[in-house]
Amino acid sequence: MKVNNYKMILVGSFSCILLFSLMSNPVFASETIDIQELYKKANEHLLIGELHEAVEIYDEILEIYPENVNTLVMKGVALSNLDRHKQSLIEFYKALEFDPKNILALTGMGVGFGNFGEYKEAQLYFENAYEIKPNNHVITNYKDFAQKTVEKYPYNEVDKPEIFEIDVVETVPTWVKNTAGWWADGTIGDSEFITGLQFLIKNNIIEIDSVQATEDKVQTIPTWVKNTAGWWAENKIPDKEFLSGISFLITNGFLVIDILDISQISEESKKNSDRNLWEFSRYLDRIEKTVINDKRYIEYPNPSSDVIKKFLRDYVKWNFDQQIEIGNKDFPNPEYVLVDDIYHLEYKIYINDQPIGLPLDHVSTLINSFKYWEDIELSANDGKPVKIHFVTTKSRIDANLWVTWVVRDIGENVLGHANLGKGVIEVALGGYGCDGNFQLFHVDTVETIMTHELGHGIGLKHSKDPDSIMYPTIKKVKYAYCLLDVNQ
Ligand SMILES: [Zn+2]
Repeated sequence: MKVNNYKMILVGSFSCILLFSLMSNPVFASETIDIQELYKKANEHLLIGELHEAVEIYDEILEIYPENVNTLVMKGVALSNLDRHKQSLIEFYKALEFDPKNILALTGMGVGFGNFGEYKEAQLYFENAYEIKPNNHVITNYKDFAQKTVEKYPYNEVDKPEIFEIDVVETVPTWVKNTAGWWADGTIGDSEFITGLQFLIKNNIIEIDSVQATEDKVQTIPTWVKNTAGWWAENKIPDKEFLSGISFLITNGFLVIDILDISQISEESKKNSDRNLWEFSRYLDRIEKTVINDKRYIEYPNPSSDVIKKFLRDYVKWNFDQQIEIGNKDFPNPEYVLVDDIYHLEYKIYINDQPIGLPLDHVSTLINSFKYWEDIELSANDGKPVKIHFVTTKSRIDANLWVTWVVRDIGENVLGHANLGKGVIEVALGGYGCDGNFQLFHVDTVETIMTHELGHGIGLKHSKDPDSIMYPTIKKVKYAYCLLDVNQ
């Protein structure tokens, strides 16, 4: 066959895509350079898998800034990667106390509960995260996992402390709402209700445009506010309506609340949060015990580490080391026919199985990669058009191309490689570029790499056009389950 017609260079050289993974997460904008440096250093340790070193530095920062949400969350991620699920949950829990809508902490809670096999609780957190960020692929993957698992494995749920029977994305803590109800029905006096309002003001849940000078005034509340508070406590009016009503009253001086004395509120909320944290920790202990007693089956939300373990156990099955070493000269050339002045080039492809336990289906996205090249019209050196056709075969001997998914370390930042024109096509299933641990790629990323490598497989070299699939680097690598990708 006239291979030169089609600019096919059948050499044994490898081609690859390079990945550049950057993590930028600026925090402490108003704080000291030292802390910023520490935070950066901790994240660097995390990204290369030095988790103990990272945790040590996060702790150093938290000693100075115990309420720094980003540090709490990153420590939670590090502990989760260390399989210290309880400790990880506690860090995410603390982060949510300060920032109830923190997307990473919500997802981290879901993963933590999932790792305990407390799937319904996990589902709750994933659904909350999904509500905030419905387009994030990691959250969607986890939400789907929880839904499937809840249906698949019945288990004895561990009783939650009453304090956690709340919607986690709710911004008004339950105790404030309860206080409003008790105040409305006369169970408690004004001052306790005011503590609740002060908490909301201090935490910017009630926004006050201009603060009234209040030192000399007696704190008073018009009685009709009581009715409204009662309705709110009974969910007859939404949070927004009640809160903006209170804000209006305060701003216009109808309701005078001393918001200068924040030490009292801090103490109140500190007492509350200490008690809650203690309850939460006991709750996790009970879960741990129940999981052991019930011999509960655990299906981990993030399958990445399981997949790589199974992969390494069966290394030879997924890797074609020997053929790669020999090169592609022993592979048969693809056949072609000239019909109506069009070259039809037929590639026989042997497709290796996917590693066991992989929940993502790459074999079916391979169809998309085939279609991509089958739909494109290439031209031969003699100007005639070339159409590519892929036919799968069970026989390796007949095949012009062998396709396999690997998780071996192909090389730093290398996502895949292929022989030019024929031979072996290898595509990475995951990598260490997200959080230092092995993480599976998203199906779209694997498909993109596959399409690129398949391009080499049919003889195409790299393109200088950044928009071309044959451009040597990929702009964005998406991971399927990496917690840090929820911020994408
Ligand atoms: Zn390439």
